This record gives sequence, C-alpha cells and structure tokens, in this order.
Amino acid sequence: MSKLQGKVALVTGASRGIGRAIALRLAQEGALVAVHYGKNRNAALEVVREIQSREGSAFAIGADLTSAGGIDQLFAALDTGLLEFTGGNHLDILVNNAGIAQTLTLEETTAESWDEVMDIHVKAPAFIIQKALPRLKENGRIINISSAVTRIAFPNLLGYSVSKGALNTLTYVLAQHLGSRNITVNAIQPGIIDTDMNAETLQSTGGQEFAAGLSAFGRWGQPEDVADIAAFLASPDSRWVTGQLIDASGGSRL
Ligand code: NAD
Repeated sequence: MSKLQGKVALVTGASRGIGRAIALRLAQEGALVAVHYGKNRNAALEVVREIQSREGSAFAIGADLTSAGGIDQLFAALDTGLLEFTGGNHLDILVNNAGIAQTLTLEETTAESWDEVMDIHVKAPAFIIQKALPRLKENGRIINISSAVTRIAFPNLLGYSVSKGALNTLTYVLAQHLGSRNITVNAIQPGIIDTDMNAETLQSTGGQEFAAGLSAFGRWGQPEDVADIAAFLASPDSRWVTGQLIDASGGSRL
C-alpha cells in the first residue's frame, strides 16, 4: 500500500543528492512533492520528470533560502503550485534538507563563514517551519537533515558541526512545541553519503578507505539509505516518534 497517498510534501534542496532521493522516495509512496531547488532549475525539472515517469506527481519551485526574501519567495511559489495541484494550500510533510559543505577549523573560521553555515542549517529551517505552520495539517511531519558530525568530532568541520548541532536542538524544542498539534519533528543524521557534497573526499587519496572504514558495514552511504528513513518518518507509522535524532551513518564511529 502507498503510505503517503493524498499527502503533500516539500523537500528543500531536492534537485540533487539526498534531497533528490527523498523527493523520489516520497513520491513513490504516493505524495505530491514540491521539489525545491536553489539554482539549478533544470536539474529540479529533471527530478519532476523522473517522478512523473513513475506515475507520481511533483512540481519544481526555486528560491535562494538565505537571501533576503528568499523564504517568502519559497512559500509564494509553493502556494502557487499547491493551488494548481490540490486547489488548496495545505502541506503534510516538510523536509529541511538544503545545506552546504564547509571545511574550516576554528583558526580558519570567519564571522562571514559562521553566518553562512548558520543561515542555511539553522535560520532557514527555523523560518521555513514558521512559515509552513499555518499550512501544516494535524499529523504533519517535519524532518530536518542534520549530520552524524554532531556526535563524531572532526575539528576541520567546526561551523558545519555546530550548525547541525543547533538544528538538532531546534528539532527537540519544536517537537515539544508542536506535539499538541500531533505534528512530529525529527532529525536524520547521515554519515558520509555519496553525493556531490562529498565528491572531493571520495576522490581524494585514501578518501574511499576512510569513508568505508567509518561505518560498521565497511561502505559509505547512498542517498537512498537516507531516503528510506525519511519515508518512514514521513509516514503514519512514525506517529509515536518525535524529537528524535535518527542515525543514518551505518553505525559510524570515530
Ligand atoms: P548537495 O550539495 O548535493 O545538495 C544540497 C542542496 O542544497 C543543493 O541542491 C543546493 O542547491 C541546496 N542549497 C544549498 N544552499 C542553498 C540555499 N542557500 N538556497 C537554496 N538551496 C540551497 O548535498 P547533499 O549531500 O545531498 O546534502 C543534503 C543535506 O544532507 C545537507 O543538509 C547536508 O548538510 C546533509 N548531509 C550530507 C551528508 C553527506 O555525506 N552528503 C552527510 C550528513 C549530512
């Protein structure tokens, strides 16, 4: 049975990588998916076409989530798409996935680099959730894509790790805040996943051995490994799970 039939999902940063896999997976379960992209409209349209070729429903919406007015632009585009596809403006599932890589130690960190990583991993999800709330129905699902680096310390990922740690705290707090509306808020913490974000690491000398060696399974992750967890958290089956950080790192350790 398709578990998300009749549901509406917004996935940010869904033109590639983990977001793309989540968009495809939610659509496979029957959800209408708003495929958000930052810059690459053609890649987002390709995801929409792929969903449609599998008899799913999707539309693409573009917005720079860290520019002034970017989140208003996101919701204006979302509302236009929702009106066209559903005749209303309700949302059931929000996946805050858009993110950036940032490899900097404490000494290399600047005020600008700090703001950049906090803006996309903390401020944008917080204000996207705020704007999504009037549209989110009872039994809504919010899924934040965090990272396993919140518990496995890499000194050269300082701002990145701290920003994802703050996203985890946002997850805990909003899970309590929104529980009375039966909205769940959870985070997924991927380890190293095979996406463009990690291309440099996986192509560097020793990079593949390092990535595979972190996980108990001796391999690095694929976007679908994360998407399957997102599909569970988006589904009615996860109704008793909220405020949780779900590890998606194949049991990675230090
Ligand atoms: P990716 O670079 O392939 O995708 C990130 C997406 O976010 C891109 O489509 C990009 O356009 C979008 N984005 C970034 N900044 C944006 C902005 N300001 N406005 C609009 N869109 C913006 O990376 P990915 O590996 O698929 O990562 C997805 C999420 O998973 C990120 O939050 C990342 O931090 C997290 N994550 C990734 C890994 C990994 O190993 N790949 C591990 C842990 C967590």
